[in-house]
Amino acid sequence: MLFIEFARHCERLEGIAGRLESIDVVSEILPGLSDDDLPIFVRFIMGRVFPDWSPLKLGIGPNLLYEAVAYVVGTRKGAVREKINTLGDAGLAVEDLLATKEQTSFFLQEMDLIEVYRDFERIAIAEGHGSQREKLRIVRKLFANMRPLEGRYLTRLMLEELRIGMGEGNVRDAIAKAFSVEIPLVEHAHQAMNDLGEVARLARQGPEALKSVRIEVFRPVKMMLAQQGTIAEMIADHGEVAIENKYDGSRLQFHKKGDVCRIYSRKLEDVTVGLPDIVHLLRNATGRDVILDGETVAIREGRPMPFQYVIRRFRRKHGVDLMREKIELVPYIFDILYLDGETLIDLPFERRRSILEEVLSDHIAPQYRSSDVDETEGIYRDALLAGHEGIMVKVLSSQYRPGIRGRQWIKVKPGVDTLDLAVVGGEWGEGRRAGFFGSFLLACMDQGQLLTVGKVATGISDEMLASLFALFKDKVIAQKGKEVTFEPEYVFEVGYSEIQTSPNYSSGFALRFPRFVRLRDDKSVDEIETLDLIRERHRRQSGSGGGFEEIA
Ligand code: AMP
Repeated sequence: MLFIEFARHCERLEGIAGRLESIDVVSEILPGLSDDDLPIFVRFIMGRVFPDWSPLKLGIGPNLLYEAVAYVVGTRKGAVREKINTLGDAGLAVEDLLATKEQTSFFLQEMDLIEVYRDFERIAIAEGHGSQREKLRIVRKLFANMRPLEGRYLTRLMLEELRIGMGEGNVRDAIAKAFSVEIPLVEHAHQAMNDLGEVARLARQGPEALKSVRIEVFRPVKMMLAQQGTIAEMIADHGEVAIENKYDGSRLQFHKKGDVCRIYSRKLEDVTVGLPDIVHLLRNATGRDVILDGETVAIREGRPMPFQYVIRRFRRKHGVDLMREKIELVPYIFDILYLDGETLIDLPFERRRSILEEVLSDHIAPQYRSSDVDETEGIYRDALLAGHEGIMVKVLSSQYRPGIRGRQWIKVKPGVDTLDLAVVGGEWGEGRRAGFFGSFLLACMDQGQLLTVGKVATGISDEMLASLFALFKDKVIAQKGKEVTFEPEYVFEVGYSEIQTSPNYSSGFALRFPRFVRLRDDKSVDEIETLDLIRERHRRQSGSGGGFEEIA
């Protein structure tokens, strides 16, 4: 497929408001694609370049992109920024700028999807001395060969937000429809493979190919997630449940084959280098080939330390020995997804737990079972006293559902409700906050689209303000007066007193008294709260006149 055809499909999808119609359109395109084009198209249409499990990251910041565009259209970088500020969208701005140099289009070298993908690979692989120059060279070459419409979508693809409403769910449904296979089969294969591109290729071969998908070692699996809920609800619905401490650390997925071990973070990044002690502990605790799921906790004098201590180690690339003396890290393993070539995610949790107890000699998170609300509340209080965040209540018969935030796992913790939201914009601060971003615009997710729900300025210490500035300054896509737009990459956990309906934000809701709790840099934007959840919280809140969290 030529890139211009891809761009035309995107343009058409951008003009469609309905989910079903978008799915129809994509499902009609997929069967006509070659086996090589199909996975690339599927990822591109979701605004992704590489499979989610892949260590490759495009890593083109807005700066490099604008510099390349400026060069190609023969203007200054500042002029590119100005255009973006006027039009409010980087894609439209690049399209407009490329249109002004159309006379040279005679020299365009037509690019197809695979060529663009190969260039992205070269960019992602470039490392070390001279890599920035190499990246710039490739991005320039790409833009030099783009017609204006192609430029719009290439820009958005590089910023990984296509704005055409094709999230994972829609693409999954389109694949099922295109190749006449059941949606749950596509979903299941996706959970194991973590790449809808490859899944599409298997869907074309038929249901048997999808059924035969297995988890593979060193290909990280999305983590199963939890919803907030109450002990009483869980026990009423399921009778006996499993109860574990909710550790305030960082999620880890441990892969081992023979002697080779790797650890992946919740964002599926390879963090092995920073965690040699964890590798050592877990390697000594099993001789089998495994994929384990757990939490890494920092311990000082027997008590868990706050989450930030762990995150510091996850980011660490050098000086690990020195850090190791200061913070002791301990793994708590609570699940097993793979054993000696077998995929275990479809087994009931109860069964996985007993396998885990057989194959791992140490570092298993303690588990209680109970069907009694009072007893479980006692366990919850003990967990808080021991310094944990709360408890996790899990359904004993549940399968492991990668990437799913379902009601099979419930988190119970005290305090106000919080939401994990993407930071999509900000405002330059004033007074003491001059020279920094003083407030941040937040968004939730709705079918692949980011919708705003409010701004947060409270609860950010001066020190945090400075580190947030360092983090966000290279993520500015556009600026208008005091307001800036960020490339959506970071997630904030935000507290609030109430959710209100509001015409001021695109979600239709606003947070009352939003308060910054922490930067969730273990979470990626596709893990943020959905509009459905916000709507649900709003509904419950108006129904019961308050939060629905358990209070200690
Ligand atoms: P949250 O990040 O608030 O959505 O809570 C879910 C997170 O709690 C998981 O991603 C884990 O990192 C963490 N967690 C801590 N203890 C457990 C546990 N026993 N089981 C599952 N997740 C846990």
